[in-house]
Amino acid sequence: MTWDFETDAEYQKELDWVENFVTKEVVPVDQVVKHAWNMRDPVRNALIPPLQQQVRDRGLWACHLGPNLGGPGYGQVKLALLNEILGRTHSGPIVFGCHAPDSGNSEILAHYGTPELKQRYLEPLLRQEIVSAYSMTEPRGGSDPTGFTTAAVLDGDEWVVNGEKWFSSHANFASFLILLAVTDPEEARHRRLSMFVVPSDTPGIEIVRNVGIYGHPEDEGTHSYVRYHDVRIPKDHLLGGRGEGFLVAQTRLGGGRIHHAMRTVGLVRQALDQMCERVLSRSTQGELLARKQLVQAMIADSWIDLEQFRLLVLRTAWKIDRYNDYQKVRGDISAVKAAMPKVLHDVASRALQLHGSLGVSHEMPFAAMVLESFHMGLADGATEVHKVTLAREVLKGYTGTEDLFPTQHLPRLRAEAEARFAAVLEDVGR
Ligand SMILES: Cc1cc2nc3c(=O)[nH]c(=O)nc-3n(C[C@H](O)[C@H](O)[C@H](O)COP(=O)(O)OP(=O)(O)OC[C@H]3O[C@@H](n4cnc5c(N)ncnc54)[C@H](O)[C@@H]3O)c2cc1C
Repeated sequence: MTWDFETDAEYQKELDWVENFVTKEVVPVDQVVKHAWNMRDPVRNALIPPLQQQVRDRGLWACHLGPNLGGPGYGQVKLALLNEILGRTHSGPIVFGCHAPDSGNSEILAHYGTPELKQRYLEPLLRQEIVSAYSMTEPRGGSDPTGFTTAAVLDGDEWVVNGEKWFSSHANFASFLILLAVTDPEEARHRRLSMFVVPSDTPGIEIVRNVGIYGHPEDEGTHSYVRYHDVRIPKDHLLGGRGEGFLVAQTRLGGGRIHHAMRTVGLVRQALDQMCERVLSRSTQGELLARKQLVQAMIADSWIDLEQFRLLVLRTAWKIDRYNDYQKVRGDISAVKAAMPKVLHDVASRALQLHGSLGVSHEMPFAAMVLESFHMGLADGATEVHKVTLAREVLKGYTGTEDLFPTQHLPRLRAEAEARFAAVLEDVGR
């Protein structure tokens, strides 16, 4: 029997250390550091590197990576349990060296980079001396990459890139961008794009503006609208083969999506914890909110939403460890991705509602969490697209019937059973 829902005692000790460290050291830093990715912020640079050193000393740095890349190689289940704790913080993932988009970008460089590219980009990224961005979505639409038009044309020993990308998160802080561009427009739809690493200081890269998200100060946008004008990059800055951009992107996006989901478990738990504290603290009509049955239903629904989602995330993490092949867990990852925004939205909304006017104010995190649920339903692909992927994967396990009625049509089943058990039925006179 191999089903097991317990964490081994040794790793639990590490998780206890992380819980304490995050509560005491990381949560306070979140109150004063605006963007943990901003390597030019002196407050960030004074507060975050000493915490990163403590994490390194503890052997918990870059837990998404194997020992060959400086991580402990814990695998996805252990990473999930760790990310649940980090998910309720802004700086936690950076402090532990497992933050997006660098985690996914480092996976791409590790898989597809030449030794020179690894030395130049991956090594400083893993040491967290620099940050990177992922430049895929275009202003005309991100859901259908086969419609992308940003192009890279080979000219001697260089690729020349022209086009526009939208919502390249943290490109304003990044030392390089991982870029998806059309190299082979005449090929089949899924063979037209290739992946590149592009140093941010290459002439011709223009950040048109850093787009902000509703609720954040307008001048603090971090999702860059990037224009590439005749940007020349060396021929060897191609990642993977020419025309293999989709394949390379899957390496990155599969991991990125499940890591977001692991952190979301932590955020949802934070909303539930705060909701429970509030209803046990606030009275109305002579009794605690916690004694009202409509409130109890909200607590119960939230607990069920969280625990169902958490089990799906952990099982998907377990499958990734088991198969070591993102193609085999495509449907599972899409299921997690599609479930994530609704769980966060529903639980955060109930927490907001139960905090009354305080709940909608800037003084509690719930309105930000509700908005965050919409980010979750878009970043790394819209929910609808993931539902389509999941449905396709599910339907692969089924075939239709040519019969007029379904194979499980009750009259048919009854007739078959009556024929099979005719002797018994006759004996008892039915
Ligand atoms: C917070 C955040 C961070 C992001 N970071 C990055 C980043 O670092 N790099 C990057 O390249 N991109 C990034 N993105 C962009 C993200 O990948 C896109 O938002 C996403 O792929 C959807 O593309 P779009 O916004 O252009 O929406 P569109 O493609 O225009 O789609 C709009 C809507 O149409 C509907 N829709 C689309 N396709 C279908 C379908 N097949 N069936 C039914 N309905 C459909 C959905 O409701 C969808 O939300 C980020 C987005 C957010 C919100």
